Amino acid sequence: MREIAYWPNRDELYTYLDGIINRANSEMWKIALLVMDLDDFREFCEIYGYQAIDNFLNLIGQVIKENCPDNSWLAWLGSDEFAVVLYDTDQEQATNVAQTICEAVAQPISFKGRIAQVGVSLGISLFPVDAVDRYELLKNATVAMNWVKKNGKNSYRFYDRKMSEEINRKVRLTNDFSVALVENQFILYYQPQINIFTGMISGAEALVRWQHPELGLIPPGDFIPLAEENGFIHQLGEWVLRKACQDFYSWLEAGLPLERLAVNVSVIQLLESNFAPMVFSILEETGLDPVYLELEITESQTANLQTVKSQIELLREHGVRFAIDDFGTGFSSIHHLRVMGFDTIKIDKGFIHNVLHDNKDQVIVESILNMAHLLRLNIIAEGVETSEQARYVETVKIEEVQGYYYSPPIDKDRFENMMKELFLTSE
Ligand code: C2E
Ligand code: CA
Ligand code: CA
Repeated sequence: MREIAYWPNRDELYTYLDGIINRANSEMWKIALLVMDLDDFREFCEIYGYQAIDNFLNLIGQVIKENCPDNSWLAWLGSDEFAVVLYDTDQEQATNVAQTICEAVAQPISFKGRIAQVGVSLGISLFPVDAVDRYELLKNATVAMNWVKKNGKNSYRFYDRKMSEEINRKVRLTNDFSVALVENQFILYYQPQINIFTGMISGAEALVRWQHPELGLIPPGDFIPLAEENGFIHQLGEWVLRKACQDFYSWLEAGLPLERLAVNVSVIQLLESNFAPMVFSILEETGLDPVYLELEITESQTANLQTVKSQIELLREHGVRFAIDDFGTGFSSIHHLRVMGFDTIKIDKGFIHNVLHDNKDQVIVESILNMAHLLRLNIIAEGVETSEQARYVETVKIEEVQGYYYSPPIDKDRFENMMKELFLTSE
């Protein structure tokens, strides 16, 4: 175990907190606990080597110490984490100290003949407002620090009960995943894709929801990232694909003239070498012709798409198409579009939202459109909400659209009834 000279450790912090909390109780003081962790420290270690770290942490400890007031006490919690206790304090002082420490640590430091610079994420909890004992005080300051880490880093934040509620909800959802699949709690909604020139519904995008028995209908944005984190996305993705293929096949059987079933897949799914075989086996099992299927991948995830290129190629050889989702928001390049062999670009709803008021977004949309035409890619505009936006996409000749203006995502029965009314009753 490496040691940093001089600074009290975590055990000493606990003892110190017990003492100071006792004193705060009798003197009616407030205490603030500031917990901080350097940003991207692993990268820093890779640059400077692990031997240099103790020296660097000592330097950082000095910087923190120099920027602490007299009514403070500093501890090193291990790794690149430090804690500062402020006693007989208030929120205003805690804010000032946090701000000063963040600014001071972020200053360039001369180190090993180079100029080193690191940010710090800092969380603060207050006694007695946020915590009744040392454990809760440390836990809540850490929750606030982790919140900063996830929301931009290099800053500070006071603990807020909502942060804990968010964590509890995530833990709850993560625990409930496997039961949810067994108990059929996931459902698919479908959003029509409309060909603006024929006015017909050309396709359907499958969008998953979780009908949680106690928490109600949960949108995918709340659980897809968790499923990606814990690997559950593989099972969920397979369920979504199977169910969507079954539903779509039954619509074709019923004589509905649909051309495309769009299904979202996470790049994490595509990283598995058995992804393409899984898709083929579901197509075979459900009887759906691969030419109907279009898999949508989000642009921001395409950074590591090189590794999944072979899966995409295999599927495309059999007629499955690929769309790049939320185009214009991530890091993808024209090069990606070419190399990966996408068939469709979906312009992100953010551009459509702004296109009538923001000249720059209009230029972007029209450039994407020109590029798509040159590369012979299909283009779908997402998030069309108003008649003005609908007129705009028509004027610039975007052939296909999705959006609340035409229809929100609806459940299978409603989608089916709508299609039957449109196509079958008029015959
Ligand atoms: P997405 O693929 O970009 O899906 C479009 C989202 O925009 C949907 O949100 C849809 O309800 C919403 N939307 C549609 N029309 C409009 C409109 O006119 N205005 C606005 N403001 N929004 C509109 P939803 O259903 O909440 O899905 C969110 C995201 O979750 C999806 O974004 C997709 O990335 C992900 N997702 C959904 N289902 C799956 C799935 O089965 N697998 C994976 N991996 N991701 C999924
Ligand atoms: Ca999508
Ligand atoms: Ca999208």
